[in-house]
Amino acid sequence: MDWLKEANARKQELLFELQQLIKIESVLHDEKATDDIPFGPGPLEALQFMLTKGKEQGMEVKNIDNFAGHIEMGEGDEILGILCHVDVVPAGDHWTYPPFEGRIVDGKLFGRGAIDDKGPTMAAWLAMKMVKDAEIQLNKRVRMIIGTDEESGFRCVDRYFEKEEMPAIGFAPDADFPLINAEKGIAHLIFSQKNQRAKEDTLISFQAGKRINMVPDVATAILERASEKIDENFQKFLSENDAQGTLNYDSGRYIITVKGKSAHAMEPEKGRNAAVVLAKFLLTQDLTGAAADFVRFIVEVFDGDHFGTALGFEFEDAMSGHTTLNPGVVSFDENGGTIEISMRYSVTYPFEEKITAVQQCLGSYPFTLDIAGNSAPHYVSEDDDLVQTLLSVYQKHSNDFSKVLSTGGGTYARVLKKGVAFGMLYPGEPDVAHQADEFVDVENLVKAAAIYAEAIVKLASK
Ligand SMILES: [Zn+2]
Repeated sequence: MDWLKEANARKQELLFELQQLIKIESVLHDEKATDDIPFGPGPLEALQFMLTKGKEQGMEVKNIDNFAGHIEMGEGDEILGILCHVDVVPAGDHWTYPPFEGRIVDGKLFGRGAIDDKGPTMAAWLAMKMVKDAEIQLNKRVRMIIGTDEESGFRCVDRYFEKEEMPAIGFAPDADFPLINAEKGIAHLIFSQKNQRAKEDTLISFQAGKRINMVPDVATAILERASEKIDENFQKFLSENDAQGTLNYDSGRYIITVKGKSAHAMEPEKGRNAAVVLAKFLLTQDLTGAAADFVRFIVEVFDGDHFGTALGFEFEDAMSGHTTLNPGVVSFDENGGTIEISMRYSVTYPFEEKITAVQQCLGSYPFTLDIAGNSAPHYVSEDDDLVQTLLSVYQKHSNDFSKVLSTGGGTYARVLKKGVAFGMLYPGEPDVAHQADEFVDVENLVKAAAIYAEAIVKLASK
């Protein structure tokens, strides 16, 4: 079977259905959410659209409490799951083309969700139809699972898997080709200072970052008193450290702001943490008491090091690389300091053991360490049949022999017991998910449909 030829023959159908889906503004709408419509009308309409398509093709469909649903074909004890989502993030501004239209210009189809994840969903949907129409005998049930809350917390699949069977194997077309088989663990750690600010301490407050999963790009401190030379020292610090910032004097207080560079917490090395830069400056300001401990801790642990080496966090493995720490929300007030970390830990990281060791070696710093959240790593061995089969199908159609990938971010595949992220962004393609002018390359979309069709056949037929 020449799946690419088949997919090309049905290109208009694929594009038309994708445009129909993009026209549904399936953005989470909390104010319009009810018990029956958990994420607002848009995500539900998109789910119903897909389930109607499934029914029209004579496939089994099921809606799980309007949270998620599935379309299923074939018979067998086991399920091959294809995990997709039809909710999208808000459009935002600065679009060249209408975000909810699906306009095609120069071989690209533009629209919110074009690559995340409506395009890949429709490619997988065409793949299912092609396999069905080719009357290939399946020995597994092939089930497209459709979520409606991927972008804001996975409540859709949480509910789904409370009620429905976990597929034996699966893939999620919601990330990159060739495929992602290793996803780091994601933990939320909080360092809390034990000693409080004393009245005579000059640092009144310190604030950087709003979300732990971003590198803070601005940090602000307020000082009550300072040496006469603070302005001069600050300018010198900025030029020596190639940094930008401002120092203002207002009603007896110095307000110091420093700029950094934002980046995602899974790649802290791509950003510059403004909290660390500001702490480094404050370290030169003869602070006392809790304030001095606070800035010393930040500088000694986080300056120039994303691995937590000073405290013994560091670890790496071959399948997923380094364990990294991002101090994403950093603050200091009369109660002392708090540093909230998004930690991305390697697949084989001995989490309990390491965290306990860090808690015990915190000795010279007056801080405690707590775990506020923890999502385990996700991994399917590269030698596994699932990985090898998907990889060979992808290689056959793309002639690309790139290695399998790991990520410090979580993909949708991590909710599957044995699943990987499989496409549909090809190596070298720009990642335009969540951005203005999000698009999918039409030729790549068609090719992805062929890849998914062949993957289904290889994984779910004799
Ligand atoms: Zn997605």
